[in-house]
Amino acid sequence: MNRLLFALSFILFALMAQLALAHPVETTSPAKTDEPPLWMKVTAHDKFDRTKIAATGVSLEVYGDDYVMVLGSQAQADKLQKMGVLIAKFPASPSLLDFPAWDADFHNYDEVKAELERLHQAHPAITTLDSIGQTGEGREIFRLRISKDPHTASQLPAMLLTGGHHAREHVSVEVPLMFADRLLSLFDQGDAQAVRLIGSRDIQIVPLVNPDGAEWDIQRGIYKMWRKNRTANSDGTFGVDLNRNYSQGWNNVEGASSDPGNETFHGKAPFSEPETRAVKAWIDSTPNATTLLTLHTYSELILYPWGSSYETIANTRDAQVFKTMAKTMSQWNGYSPMQASNLYAVSGEMCDWAYDTHKLFAFTFEMDPSSFVNNGFYPGQAKLPEIFEKNFPAILYMIEVADNPYKVLDPAAKSYGFATSFLAE
Ligand SMILES: [Zn+2]
Repeated sequence: MNRLLFALSFILFALMAQLALAHPVETTSPAKTDEPPLWMKVTAHDKFDRTKIAATGVSLEVYGDDYVMVLGSQAQADKLQKMGVLIAKFPASPSLLDFPAWDADFHNYDEVKAELERLHQAHPAITTLDSIGQTGEGREIFRLRISKDPHTASQLPAMLLTGGHHAREHVSVEVPLMFADRLLSLFDQGDAQAVRLIGSRDIQIVPLVNPDGAEWDIQRGIYKMWRKNRTANSDGTFGVDLNRNYSQGWNNVEGASSDPGNETFHGKAPFSEPETRAVKAWIDSTPNATTLLTLHTYSELILYPWGSSYETIANTRDAQVFKTMAKTMSQWNGYSPMQASNLYAVSGEMCDWAYDTHKLFAFTFEMDPSSFVNNGFYPGQAKLPEIFEKNFPAILYMIEVADNPYKVLDPAAKSYGFATSFLAE
């Protein structure tokens, strides 16, 4: 983290701590599961420290040179205090995060559905709209498929795009919707690249994996900083962290929690959740897929396997493809590319599973903003166009290379229309 951002973090932390004092929250009562979490500043010098902190079940959100900012419960604050690493804590008061008037452009569940229906109805020949499965509360997990003939598209190379694993990461739902709209608009205008890609690829978009959590997060127009789905756990708490519920590395490193009340609870078993089972069934039945992009917020990072191990991928050619693609995409969105576990170890996340099981070149983007300095999960709708524009070429690139991701290793390859000279170093 650069020094400016470091300094800004400090200033903002002080400011938020003051605001927190102005809005006291009881801390003596036992933490109720639907209470907003606490912001905590915690000492951490490297990925090993960060992994130990993650093992308490908090979610790590901001990374400094010698600290992290995390979200968690009072019980976790007590744990971190005992470990001697807690620097400060304050409540993430929902009243401070309530700006619904600013964010009317964001799509709730019904509006996601309406937007996908609009796109499909405007392009009936080149799209299909269906559901890959239902959530715990019975909502649909919609899929929009874009290809010259969606009914025979499984013969073409597929790129998969997902958003909304984590409830409060609403930006990650908007970007796939904006992408579908832009790609189809360009197609309508006869844009050569859009016409070529829709004519030669199977593009599958699942913008909202966790609609139950997302709807809970915005219920009554007040953001609740909710992360998980809404499964009722056996101890009376709610929610499983869907991005800790995949099978690869499930619960075999410290990067998830076995405590149901925690932010990163991994669930009772791999694929215990209807949402991850739906995603699994979808990807298992899409053998033509080669690339996958799963969108999250925030931190401005491009992450690739492994997350559940500090080892690099054993297949050195694959490892090189991951590195090259991540570096290429960072040219457009400016995010920092890295192996996921270099941040901290996580277990049971989607990209590890997708690569391990299906050899997909699978990436996680932690999109804007870089930190809570810019309102973290809730940057406001005015930021959406900027976030979308910088990520648009990266998403196109993942579609471009889906026919043969290994072609990115050929520095002379120009066939997908992107300059590769910067890869020569
Ligand atoms: Zn996330």
